[in-house]
Amino acid sequence: MSELSKLITRLENGAPLPSDLYAKTGRAHIVGITGPPGVGKSSLIDRLIEEYRGQKKKVGVIAVDPTSPITGGALLGDRLRMQRHSEDNGVFIRSLATRNHRGGVTDSTPAIVHALDAAGFDVVIVETVGTGQDEVEVAEVADTVVVVLMPELGDAIQRAKSGLMEIADILVINKSDLGTTKTEAIHTSAKTGEGIPALVGAIEAHHNSLVKSAELAKRRARAARAEVIRLLQSRMSASILRALETAQSQTILNDVAERKLDPVDAVAKLTQELRHVTAKPHRHT
Ligand code: GDP
Repeated sequence: MSELSKLITRLENGAPLPSDLYAKTGRAHIVGITGPPGVGKSSLIDRLIEEYRGQKKKVGVIAVDPTSPITGGALLGDRLRMQRHSEDNGVFIRSLATRNHRGGVTDSTPAIVHALDAAGFDVVIVETVGTGQDEVEVAEVADTVVVVLMPELGDAIQRAKSGLMEIADILVINKSDLGTTKTEAIHTSAKTGEGIPALVGAIEAHHNSLVKSAELAKRRARAARAEVIRLLQSRMSASILRALETAQSQTILNDVAERKLDPVDAVAKLTQELRHVTAKPHRHT
């Protein structure tokens, strides 16, 4: 296992980003690819990797889709892709396990994006499943959001579409070998390779327009804020659980159970306990 691979495993398990690493980030173009299960995101990413490698660009892929109900688990697809590119150290692919089936990013995703960025990957692709609920999360991580759909979508997918369209910088209709749509989009086929250079071109054009306008800085400031809030929330949740373990807290909780104290007053008291456990901020692993 490479050093990078080991680092990413540690990050996935909740370790904090090594403190010298963040300063080396900011160069990669972060591309979110989202859409309902089965539209061909994984297949499309495989094609994108080929196209980028043809341009000598290094590509990292973080796939937050281990359990696609349609393909019977992208883990299999991922393993196949891994094999195809495993000899190429200009490609790094990692699937992230999520316990739920929703389409957001995992807590460790931003840190893993930073690790790939700092390691010199030119493009970092974050693949998520867009269910129409959590896709805003990929928009918080990515510079460019590509929404993938396919011709003749069923009702459930049509419903998911509206939420997805709000975050799309680029709309792709994949599987165009199976049918046509009049939607204004980039039409691709991961099967035949049609439209792949056009998609890479559109992703690059979007990035260039972000750089030229002030929008890239704005998006990244938003991403930084979202990342800090997420870390702060998980730190605070852990602190709350620790604060509840003290003898004083146990007494307070018992008093609530015995109706001697009401929950609102209990919270006021527990806030004091929380101050004790959060008194010393530290970088723990
Ligand atoms: P994901 O769940 O969105 O990642 O979709 P996959 O990449 O796993 O693809 C789902 C299924 O659609 C697989 O059986 C693919 O072989 C197939 N598929 C993907 N892209 C295309 C395409 O452009 N045309 C056709 N005909 N099939 C495709």
